[in-house]
Amino acid sequence: MFLSVFDVFKIGVGPSSSHTMGPMTAAVRFLAAIRDQKVPFGTRIRVKLYGSLAFTGRGHATDRAVALGLLGLLPADLDIDEAGFLLEDLQDGKTLRSPGLPPITFDPETDVVFDYGDPLPGHANGLTFDLCGRAGETIFSETYYSIGGGFVVTASEKALTTKESLAASDRPFPFHSAASMLAMASIAGISVAQMKRANELVSATARDLDDGLDRLWRVMDDCIERGLRTSGELPGGLKVKRRASAIYRQLLSERGSNQAHPHVVADWLSVYAMAVNEENAGGGRVVTAPTNGAAGVVPAVLKYFISHCGGDDRQKIHEFLLTAAAIGGLIKHNASISGAEAGCQGEVGSAAAMAAAGLCAVLGGTPAQVENAAEIALEHHLGLTCDPVAGLVQVPCIERNGMGAMKAVSAASLALRGDGTHFMPLDNCIRAMRQTGEEMNSKFKETSLGGLAVNLPEC
Ligand code: SF4
Repeated sequence: MFLSVFDVFKIGVGPSSSHTMGPMTAAVRFLAAIRDQKVPFGTRIRVKLYGSLAFTGRGHATDRAVALGLLGLLPADLDIDEAGFLLEDLQDGKTLRSPGLPPITFDPETDVVFDYGDPLPGHANGLTFDLCGRAGETIFSETYYSIGGGFVVTASEKALTTKESLAASDRPFPFHSAASMLAMASIAGISVAQMKRANELVSATARDLDDGLDRLWRVMDDCIERGLRTSGELPGGLKVKRRASAIYRQLLSERGSNQAHPHVVADWLSVYAMAVNEENAGGGRVVTAPTNGAAGVVPAVLKYFISHCGGDDRQKIHEFLLTAAAIGGLIKHNASISGAEAGCQGEVGSAAAMAAAGLCAVLGGTPAQVENAAEIALEHHLGLTCDPVAGLVQVPCIERNGMGAMKAVSAASLALRGDGTHFMPLDNCIRAMRQTGEEMNSKFKETSLGGLAVNLPEC
């Protein structure tokens, strides 16, 4: 299956791609599936959440996402205010009214069940939808897996996906590993972004591709700007305060003064990333990059390039996004971008590798240097666990994106000081990430059963 730049970067809503956007999409798919059945009057929909979706689903608003999906809403075009009104109506009436279907009972309070037993065998994030008759008997059932980054597959699709190659053979550069990416770039004498662009143009016009890339950056940048202007407390009960706007005002006031140390540039990177992840934690509009929990890293590094390195250039912005997407595709194909499957190395680690590659490319890096930058950034996230406090995408997630952005910039800079030759290939590093994720205790894979999540300060 070819993974487009618009699959790796998806416009959606917070707080989680796998726990919010994926389940919302699964619910919309289930509605479409039952439209093909003869649905009688008097039915009810029941949803069961398994594994990480059960353990951290409340903090990640999975139950709300399922209800919104059953109302027919998809993450990309969700109007957040309208969604609130529709949910209130559903809570009052407990009835779904979807085009092409009779009214179906669904009580968002009781018809979403959190199953804290074993996860489903197919993936750590599983959810089952049942359409039940008057006597409670199951008329139709489907299980979906939310495999990270907002991607959703049924069991049969999952089996197919794992057998398919990353890039379909109808693409001019069907690279499925970093080694094949470098070999193709060397033979064709073009950059990673140029290969990715050629692959995209098989299924999109140049205009649609460019407009889509413009839109991605616009949504990312709007998200940063909103986050930099918004203060207050984040939802969820932890009473975590938004910090990006206050830090941003400090940074602005220090600009040009000789009080500021050179390392203040790290604060700029952090504040851009934190702005995005505060928006994400607040349920706002974000671009998954490649997940929502890690949505701040790529925009922060691109914003840094534009605002601090004189990079305000449409073509450069496209080159950054295409290069980052190529690396994200390799990681998703050969390991995982899901915190529930690989821990945070799969989320913030992947995002840092993508951002490092993008920055290295737009600063003039060769394909070998780009691969090196991605490898450095990923290598130094290996083993990073996922232990979100109270199941919310706030602590450690918000600051962690700032740290990921800094590692990405350092990795790109280091790679640019070499000639691209290096000891550990990116492919091996991705393999190590996959193996580490497989052997990581499930306490540290988005279940909130270990680490920071169980070492809370006394209030
Ligand atoms: S700790 Fe990392 S992987 Fe876990 S929810 Fe936060 S950002 Fe996602």
